Amino acid sequence: MNSPIEVLKGFFGYNQFRGNQEAIIKAVLNKKDTIVLMPTGGGKSVCYQVPAMVLDGFTLVISPLIALMKDQVDALNANGIPAAFLNSTQSQSEQRYILQEVEQGKIKLVYVAPERLFSQSAPLSDFLQSSKLSLVAVDESHCVSQWGHDFRPEYLKIGQLRKLLPNIPFIALTATADKLTRKDIALNLGLKDPQWFISSFDRSNITYRVEQKRNSFEKLLEFLEEQQGNSGVIYCLSRRNVEETAEKLQSVGVSAMPYHAGLPREVRERNQEQFIKDETKVMVATIAFGMGIDKSNVRFVVHMNLPQNIEGYYQETGRAGRDGLPSEALLFFSVGDSITLERMLEKADNPDYVAIMKGKLAKMRTFGMSRTCRRKYLMNYFGEEFPDSCGNCDICFSQGSARDMTVPSQMLLSAIVRLQESYGLGYTILILKGSKSAKIKEEHTKLSVYGIGKDQPEDFWKTLGEKLMKEGYIAEAGSQFPTLKLTTMAWDKLKKKEKIFVAMDAPQKKTSKEVSYNKELFEALKDLRFQIAKKEDIPPYIVFSDATLVEMATYRPNTKEGLMDMAGVGATKADRYGEEFLGMIIRYIKSHNLEVKKKLTASRATVKLKASTGVSDTGWLTYKYLQDGLNTYQIASKRNMKVNTIESHLVKLVKNGKVEAEKFVSKDDITTIRVFYRRLEDKRLKPIKEHFGDRFSYCQIKLALAHES
Ligand code: ADP
Ligand code: ZN
Repeated sequence: MNSPIEVLKGFFGYNQFRGNQEAIIKAVLNKKDTIVLMPTGGGKSVCYQVPAMVLDGFTLVISPLIALMKDQVDALNANGIPAAFLNSTQSQSEQRYILQEVEQGKIKLVYVAPERLFSQSAPLSDFLQSSKLSLVAVDESHCVSQWGHDFRPEYLKIGQLRKLLPNIPFIALTATADKLTRKDIALNLGLKDPQWFISSFDRSNITYRVEQKRNSFEKLLEFLEEQQGNSGVIYCLSRRNVEETAEKLQSVGVSAMPYHAGLPREVRERNQEQFIKDETKVMVATIAFGMGIDKSNVRFVVHMNLPQNIEGYYQETGRAGRDGLPSEALLFFSVGDSITLERMLEKADNPDYVAIMKGKLAKMRTFGMSRTCRRKYLMNYFGEEFPDSCGNCDICFSQGSARDMTVPSQMLLSAIVRLQESYGLGYTILILKGSKSAKIKEEHTKLSVYGIGKDQPEDFWKTLGEKLMKEGYIAEAGSQFPTLKLTTMAWDKLKKKEKIFVAMDAPQKKTSKEVSYNKELFEALKDLRFQIAKKEDIPPYIVFSDATLVEMATYRPNTKEGLMDMAGVGATKADRYGEEFLGMIIRYIKSHNLEVKKKLTASRATVKLKASTGVSDTGWLTYKYLQDGLNTYQIASKRNMKVNTIESHLVKLVKNGKVEAEKFVSKDDITTIRVFYRRLEDKRLKPIKEHFGDRFSYCQIKLALAHES
């Protein structure tokens, strides 16, 4: 029998357990019932996957989402762990075959949906009682609680299963923290004196930022520019917003796709698939998106509108950074949004519900306006203590650079009051500047504040106005023609004649410790990963996570042993992908005269992604060489890259319209390939290649189809 740490190292490629993992696994192996509360990305899966490989027999995993099951099974298989799922998309004989393999001990983990347990046609419960079952894991176990927003009645059946299997340990896992849900999990699943493992819900790798919603689209573009090439989700309130935003982003060349419940299912699924496979970088979506995805390399989540409550906001932002690398959560805040949401809530006819939801909305609004550390606010909301500052949110970044802005702030605030709180920032600034513009109403030129701010430039007032909004002194009401109002906090300050401190500079960028890794090599490794994933028809993050590639780009290992020191490279992946990744690294360090860095595995440093500004896009260099007249082979040898990689650049360039496919495949051949492709039901490359045999290379086929679908 393998020990847990051997399994962790050998199959998952990790050198040590994280947080509570080890204690949880110990309890499970001691046959205790356990309940695990851990945030998204905390590493819940390892808590039952490692025991599954330590114990004889097999582990049953109950999970609500078919899409996630496939992902988990793919990920396990990629690590060399035999796993399978049973669901309604499979034929009877297929399912029988899987169960046979389970009986023969060929499969260690079986994923099922809860409805399968006692289904009328083929209940699993009989099979489970007579099989070599060693452990039952209940994933997303908050689904058993009526209090939660994900309640699934079928989960209540798990309690029956618990009774039928008195000697089998159960482990329940969830990332939902609230107290009522916790109680329900223990109660409704019928767990026996369960041992609780509660981790902090803090997601320390996520940076929280709140921006005023004014000019949100321009601000979004600036943000996306910094995030170049990264994968992320942009949440919008309405379907219309989703479509508009996606279109606008596409029109400026951002690789974005829409997702909402109103789109035809095929479109939705296709867009989601493209996102998961890194073919589309940005998903613009309503909150309908996200439940069924497990993508670990989501680098940012943006909310264009105020979410309805902190629970939703936290869950949605939590989809960023599951791999533990630094990630961003950006919220565009406006009081107007909160008024719109309140009106929507009032339409519901259950008054209790309306009252509760309004209370939650108020907390969300306070989050946006508050000047306390965002993380502290979130943690306190979920009932966790937290120090006053986290050092990784916009509020914490701006502290320290705050200056005394009492006098100009008083000017601006009184101008707003003198204007009866009925005008926007632009007009208020014109008054302060004593503008002679025709827009100014006659009576306003007589106000005491008219012209009192003419010594400062317009930009100064604009920045100050925005900062005062951000700091919660000024609220903006109305969406089309927003007007400024003073908040109670501002009135308080004025009354008490307290000083007002404002940080006028742009918020500092992160100052956290960063280990530098080679960005160009990282991009090349990402390209290689993308190619392999495409060939194997699995999501790239299942081949290796971003975190693993960052390690490779940091330490640049040139031997198989060295490669296996990288977190996330287990024996199977080293065998399966090692050669290709090592090849790329070795070529790269040779051509750049770099050395291998020794990794001190005992003190595994957490590697942090550097803000990705000024990326040297590797595809761009290929483009330059193409323009110089080099062919793909010449470019590959010049760049010390695989021809495959260069060809993938080429396909991208054709897709982007930078290069014409006709230069590489004749017009007639393109037509031939396209006609065949359009008649195909199964739109994969393989059948096309098989049909044409040696007549066309994969690359030629891809080039011919670059503008299809
Ligand atoms: P959760 O299910 O809690 O959201 P996962 O089980 O998907 O989290 O784990 C999140 C990420 O952390 C995955 O990429 C996983 O492989 C990685 N991970 C889990 N345990 C460890 C560990 N002990 N060391 C390093 N990485 C780990
Ligand atoms: Zn903070």
